Amino acid sequence: MKNSKATSASTNAAHDEISSKLGKLFEDGVRDIYWAEKALLKALGKMSKNATSEDLISALELHQTETEDQVLRLEKIFSLLGKAPRGKKCDGMEGLIKEAESMMDESDEGPMRDAAIIAAAQKAEHYEIASYGTLRTFAQTIGLNEAVSILNETLEEEKDTDTKLTELAISNVNLLAASQSDEE
Ligand code: FE
Ligand code: FE
Repeated sequence: MKNSKATSASTNAAHDEISSKLGKLFEDGVRDIYWAEKALLKALGKMSKNATSEDLISALELHQTETEDQVLRLEKIFSLLGKAPRGKKCDGMEGLIKEAESMMDESDEGPMRDAAIIAAAQKAEHYEIASYGTLRTFAQTIGLNEAVSILNETLEEEKDTDTKLTELAISNVNLLAASQSDEE
């Protein structure tokens, strides 16, 4: 009896330690994606200015609005953690945005540049899907249930955006094919 009590006390201590380390990873991850979302807000604006297809422009503008809400949701999570919202530079997203800018510069305006924008935007969405998926799992593990549902809402928006971009990529490929055969 004495032994099992000692074991459960040490199991609890180990569990507490894991929780506190995961809590730190969680907070770092929230700060990373907070920086990334704010950087993406600007990048989405640049992408929609450079896009030609009306459908692509409206998808990017819609996602810009959603991204503004996502920033607010992250601020809610900071308040659940009792922390002031503070971003931490996300090297991954910075790199993806730099790539997006050079892809736009190097492509001809029209369906070719739209293809580059869609490709770059999908890479950014995939980064976000991975980040929010991980953060949701961390939040579940440490029992932050309110954060789980907030993160889930954003995760679903990112997935829907990715699906929409895939559909736009397919119709853009048809436009590209048509513009190629016009040139021949
Ligand atoms: Fe986002
Ligand atoms: Fe997104």
